[in-house]
Amino acid sequence: MNEYDTNRIYDLAATIGFNKTDIKDEADCFVLNTCHIREKATEKVYHEIGRVKKEFRKIKKPLVIVSGCVAQAESKEMLKREPYIDMVIGPQSYHKITDLILSYQRKKEKKNETNFDVVKKFDDLQKIPTSQNKISSYLTIQEGCDKFCHFCVVPYTRGPEYSRPFNQIINEANDLVNKGAREIILLGQNVNAYNYLDGDKKHKLSSLIMELEKIDKLKRIRFMTSHPNDMTDDLIDCFQNCKKLMPILHLPIQSGSNKILKLMNRKHDREYYLSIIKKLKNINKDIKISSDFIIGYPEESQQDFDETINIIEKVSFINSYSYIFSARPGTPSAKKNLNNLLESKERLKKLQHLLKNIQIDDNKTYLDQNCEVLVENKIKGQEKYFGRTRHMIPVKFESDKCNPGELVIVKITSYNQNSLFGFKENNKMKVA
Ligand code: SF4
Repeated sequence: MNEYDTNRIYDLAATIGFNKTDIKDEADCFVLNTCHIREKATEKVYHEIGRVKKEFRKIKKPLVIVSGCVAQAESKEMLKREPYIDMVIGPQSYHKITDLILSYQRKKEKKNETNFDVVKKFDDLQKIPTSQNKISSYLTIQEGCDKFCHFCVVPYTRGPEYSRPFNQIINEANDLVNKGAREIILLGQNVNAYNYLDGDKKHKLSSLIMELEKIDKLKRIRFMTSHPNDMTDDLIDCFQNCKKLMPILHLPIQSGSNKILKLMNRKHDREYYLSIIKKLKNINKDIKISSDFIIGYPEESQQDFDETINIIEKVSFINSYSYIFSARPGTPSAKKNLNNLLESKERLKKLQHLLKNIQIDDNKTYLDQNCEVLVENKIKGQEKYFGRTRHMIPVKFESDKCNPGELVIVKITSYNQNSLFGFKENNKMKVA
């Protein structure tokens, strides 16, 4: 989502004459768009600002803006702690960036803009065309979260759940497709909670996907990230009825233990999660699932961890993220005693080893098979192209002629944990 927001921040700044530059010390304005999910996010921001300060020491100071979730969480504390920062803008207020910059240019007054103004934000953004022109493009449809998992900062930094107007999304999707997008990844912190009331017509994520399916040149649709409790039957049915919806779902479970899920305030148990997976597999055998796992959550016992290992073996998750629990300031779990770190590290190692083996075994199944790949780009300096399978696996392949945005068939000749390699079928070039 930060990639989407960063692009939109740029689109806004461009309306008052700013352009992107790769030559950092030429910049008049430096925007650091931040994420609060990872560990030590705040310290990393101060470190980065320190680096900018050093780079610009002997030249004119740029206007320095910190935006995103760290800006939201730290708010005016940031301006106090690091006087080099001129402006702090939260993720639900960045549509005001142009007015804030113009006002700063006039008055040289520092600004802290961290209100939750999400309706106005998207109203304003829809008036500005997107500069995103990637084959695979992001489109934010929903923001915020009402679930309040005890380890997570999102409800505090992005605010309550908000769904963008249906037509606004369809217009932006058409704009992206006209600019070259052939795959759209619908984004939301709780994307499957999408719910928009238009008069007496209720739009859900399923109706949005059905509508996007009608866009001619659009070839693939994906969405992330989902909560198990919002995987309603109409959405599950889309994996059967919508040919453009790709058969992979990122559905975080975090832990396989009911005790830990309860402590995390996830509001679902492992049995419910498994029932969703069963429904999905019944409807479409090709579906694969990825997840997030938090290891060493306060009070996690060996038995709890074993239950997480057990659910990984049961579901055969691919392409998943796993971390040792680290407390986010202000969340309920930050008040809990931490587990033994060495033990958590051992557990993480075991879990990641299992995930890695599952992923390698999964990639092995593609060997000597023909795979549908959406071509994203030519690899710089090589006669090779990059694309992704229907399950999002990166593929590097040889081909004498290929167009980004095209769906091609690639014969897979080798693999590693993260990628597949091969050549475009009907084009018998030497194997990668
Ligand atoms: S559902 Fe996701 S975004 Fe919401 S609080 Fe839980 S982890 Fe955070």
